[in-house]
Amino acid sequence: MQSTNPATERPVREYESHSDGDIDEALERATTAFEDWRARPIEERQTKLGDVATVLRENAEEYARLITTEMGKPIAEARSEVEKCAWVCEYYAEHAAAHLSDERLATIPEADTKVVYEPLGAVLAVMPWNYPFWQVFRFAAPTLTAGNVGLLKHASNVPGCALAIEEIFAEAGYPEGVFTTLLVGSSDVERVLADDRVKAATLTGSEYAGRKVAETAGYHLKKTVLELGGSGPFLVLDDADLDTAVETAVTARYMNTGQSCIAAKRFIVVDDAYDEFVDRFTAAVAELTVGDPAAEETDIGPLAKGKFVDELHEQVEGSIEAGASLELGGERLDRTGHYYAPTVLADVPRSAPAACEETFGPVAAVFGVDDEREAVDLANDSRFGLGASVWTEDRDRGEQVGRQLETGSVFVNELVKSDPRVPFGGIKASGYGRELSKQGIREFVNRKTLWVQ
Ligand code: NDP
Repeated sequence: MQSTNPATERPVREYESHSDGDIDEALERATTAFEDWRARPIEERQTKLGDVATVLRENAEEYARLITTEMGKPIAEARSEVEKCAWVCEYYAEHAAAHLSDERLATIPEADTKVVYEPLGAVLAVMPWNYPFWQVFRFAAPTLTAGNVGLLKHASNVPGCALAIEEIFAEAGYPEGVFTTLLVGSSDVERVLADDRVKAATLTGSEYAGRKVAETAGYHLKKTVLELGGSGPFLVLDDADLDTAVETAVTARYMNTGQSCIAAKRFIVVDDAYDEFVDRFTAAVAELTVGDPAAEETDIGPLAKGKFVDELHEQVEGSIEAGASLELGGERLDRTGHYYAPTVLADVPRSAPAACEETFGPVAAVFGVDDEREAVDLANDSRFGLGASVWTEDRDRGEQVGRQLETGSVFVNELVKSDPRVPFGGIKASGYGRELSKQGIREFVNRKTLWVQ
């Protein structure tokens, strides 16, 4: 397995993949570790998670540089990612026990009935490269604290991050086998997931990979949580505060060089505000600094893999052919590294690739609509249903519009974000299940009914 720096296109390091024997040993260790780990008081597991936050903070700069080197994230954003991982650990270090406390069912007077939450065992996490630390900690913090053990199959382009995360848990004093990184390719996932010692799986990534994992898990009757792509609508209504909407729109689309499932991808703007929005948004995007992700001032780095540049450019060209107007960018940058120019497409038709497909890079599609009703209709005209953002000065109106949107979350006058305190996940082709908050920690547990007569 080899990591390559997407900014320089040079190899960083080679890693030996795990053999069949290594995988077997890891599964055995995880099974043994589970028996001890689940029996410990949850307070002890919470304390350990607090220690993970400390390790993350102590070595934040080292981890941030590793993230930037392996997948090209601008360094300032990489630091924020590590900080956010510490936050999710602290969140569950404080709230896990409350989220998993027994729930007495008062509706049954003739018996003592309750729901108790018990861990399942080894949970396989198939994770992507775009937030190589955050995606893993978002899974691991609640799942391990609930008493499960974790097996990480990380994306093949971030093996250094995968091993660093395993090391973080070891440094925080987790017993061997509670968190294990498997350096394996995607073709090994089916076999690992089919193994009786693995009880459930979570995947964040493409729709294709999600279907594959769900297919195997379905056959073996194992629980899954899937967090797949998104083509998030960002609705700007006629009474929106355009200053804040434009500023937030730029962050919502171009953060992480546009490689985020929850990024706003379709900007749906009501007629009265359309021209001004397009002008101001395009001008603000033109100000973004593209460059070396290791430099402090960089806003936009390279895409994580060379093939992503080709795929994105095809979507842009296809959208222009379908009738979209190119306001900015629309080309690969002529320099070493997988760079694509920050791009704005306006007047995008509903049939264009930028409307129907997920664009995973610095490309925004702006659509004009006559009114609120058309905005909602267009927002829902998508295979995806992850997150949506609505902009209006009238908070009640925002809530009413939000209730009509077919997505796992709606944020009014805020960008879509994954925050440890609120549930996160999608519907439709964006997947199912929830991560984070109380709902997230209750995914990989047996919600056992206990009836005592
Ligand atoms: P993938 O879905 O291929 O990769 C995500 C993870 O799934 C990786 O660990 C990968 O392993 C694994 N994987 C891939 N194929 C299979 C399979 N058949 N069975 C089991 N596991 C598999 O994403 P890409 O990196 O190729 O990105 C492609 C597109 O996916 C993006 O353009 C974007 O649309 C979407 N995506 C969405 C993300 C999100 O946050 N929801 C994150 C990343 C991508 P390996 O690396 O070894 O192939």
